[in-house]
This record gives sequence, C-alpha cells and structure tokens, in this order.
Amino acid sequence: MAKKTYEIIVIKIGSSTLTTPQGKLDITNLERIAAEASELVKQKKRVLIVTSGSIVSGAEKLGLGKPKSIPEKQAAAAVGQSLLMRQYEKAFEKSGITVAQVLLTRDAIADRERYLNAKNCLSTLLGEGVVPIINENDAVAIDEIKIGDNDTLAALTASLIGADLLILLTDVDGFYLKNEEGVPYLASEIGEITNEVRDAAGHPSTQLGTGGMITKLQAAEICSDAGIDLFIISGRQAGLIKAVASGEKHGTLFLPKTTKLEGRKRWLAHGLKKEGTIMIDPGAETALIKHGKSLLPVGIKSVTGKFKSGALVGIVDENDKEIARGLINVSSHELAELIGKKEVGEVIHRDNLVVL
Ligand code: GLU
Repeated sequence: MAKKTYEIIVIKIGSSTLTTPQGKLDITNLERIAAEASELVKQKKRVLIVTSGSIVSGAEKLGLGKPKSIPEKQAAAAVGQSLLMRQYEKAFEKSGITVAQVLLTRDAIADRERYLNAKNCLSTLLGEGVVPIINENDAVAIDEIKIGDNDTLAALTASLIGADLLILLTDVDGFYLKNEEGVPYLASEIGEITNEVRDAAGHPSTQLGTGGMITKLQAAEICSDAGIDLFIISGRQAGLIKAVASGEKHGTLFLPKTTKLEGRKRWLAHGLKKEGTIMIDPGAETALIKHGKSLLPVGIKSVTGKFKSGALVGIVDENDKEIARGLINVSSHELAELIGKKEVGEVIHRDNLVVL
C-alpha cells in the first residue's frame, strides 16, 4: 500500500516534553523539535505548533514552585508565554522561518464568527509560510471558561484549519491497551474508540501536563469526526515527527471515521461545551438518523443538566450511547414542560443538529 502523505500538520508539544527533570524549560528538546518541524515546512507542508509549558516556565522564572491560585497561574503564564515565544522564534529563525503567536480561548472557538476569524488568520499565516505557535490565552482565561488542556486545543485547532494530521508529543511512547491477562501493550493502531479503549485511558498520569491519556482520547474523538489522523508519539525520540509525517508508523495511530463531518457540523459537534443530555426513544432515533428530521419533544424521554436556550446538548439513545449533538431552542426549564408532548414544534432544528 502506498504511504500516506500529509499536507497540513498540527504538532502539539506537551509540558512534559518541554521541561527538564529539574523543572526548567528544555530548550535543547524545543530546538530539536523546531528543527524537525522546519524540515516539514521546507517540504512545503503547512505546520502549526500547539505548545504547552507557559505556566511551568513562568513559574520557574518567578520562583513560584507549583502555582496554585488562579492569579498566580495567570501571572506565571504571562511571563512563561513570552519566554516560550522567544525560544521558538530563535529556533525557527535558524531555518529562516517566521513564527507567529496565536492565543486562543474557549469563547473564540465557541462563537462561530470569531472561530471563522481565527481560521482566516491561521490560513493567511500558513499561506505566507509562517508557523503559528498556538496556546490557550492562560493569562486571561479562568478555569470556568477554559478549554483547559492543550490536547483538546490542538484537536480543535486541527479541525478548524482542516488539518490531515495531528501529532501529540508526550512523555510515553504511545497509547497502551491491556491484553486478556491484564498486561499492558502498546497499541500501534486504534480504529474505533470503544469502551475498552476508554477504560484503558485510566486517569491523568503525567505530573506536568493537564490531562494524561483521557484528554488525548478526547482529542482523538474530535479528530475522528473531522477526518484527521492522530498519532501519539514520544516527545523525546529524534526523527519521529518526520517519520510519521511521511507515512511511517510509530507510537499509536488513531484512525478517523470514514465519513468526515463538514466544517460547520464539526464546529457544532465540538466547538462548544456540552451543557446537558437528552435521552430519546427509538422512534425519535430513527427520525433523526434515518430520515434526517429535527428533534421534537414527543420523542424525548428525559433531560439532564441545566442549560439556557442556544446551549449545546448531547442526544443519547436508551442505552446512554451518544448518537447526536445539537443547539437547543429552549432552556432546560422550558424543556421539562414540553417532554413527550405532541403538537409542539421542534426543539432542535435539523440544521443545528449533527449525527455522530
Ligand atoms: N496552556 C497550558 C500552559 O501553557 C498547558 C495546558 C496543558 O498542558 O494541557 O502551561
């Protein structure tokens, strides 16, 4: 089989990959990764970097230890972000490549217009041969409104720009599943994110990063819907970025679904935070999935969560399997009154609904 080639590549560099065992910014590794990314740019590929490490490196500079309060984290991020950018700028400069800082927040993704603005900005930068260096705007984003982890940020960015590959660099060499005896083994390829895969993700593992394998799986789900291949590989081993970008297999490859969602539906499915869940009966499920209909109150069995009208909600079948997502026309309060009623109009219009 011919090797896959990728054209638009997002590389996410986790905090563990950018930090020495002493908790300092690992400039040697940053330079090595930048050099590999530069080679891809020289091959005319479009490369975006999503970087972590602002809080870690700012805290180190300020002598804060591990910052706990929100203002301390924000201050550390503000200091660390410019330290990081200085190193990226110097590292890419060696290959004559210009970098750009782009700081995103959850509301820049959730608002459709700002989302499209961000997309236009990134496309223009890529068209100019610039490497965008992206992070969450931690200095102004408080926990409640944060994307919160850079695995998700990287996947949302990859989906936004229509990338064909996301590479997650981390401190392990891939994703581990367990065999029948319970012994972990490195999974080289995962075609579908089953419950077994979810169980294997366990709990956040690394000390420095935010999410461990759980957020990497969330990233894989976003990429899966967007038709993007996702690799988890070691952030320490030289040569791997180039290798996977040219179609070699290392670490773990998550394959996307065969049918990719188009732009607005991708944004709908993952751009906003899910605020509630609606369980529907088999009749409504058929109407939604087979006949492409809107969601009516008559097919709703139950509602969980508190939300306002316009919120993103998940739609589950009777086995609690999520089958669709959509923007709801009414609040959870209003919906409670409508459940099961006939002769009431749609609560999620078809155009605002995406079948997963
Ligand atoms: N945005 C955070 C930082 O730069 C990192 C979040 C993460 O590690 O996922 O420190």
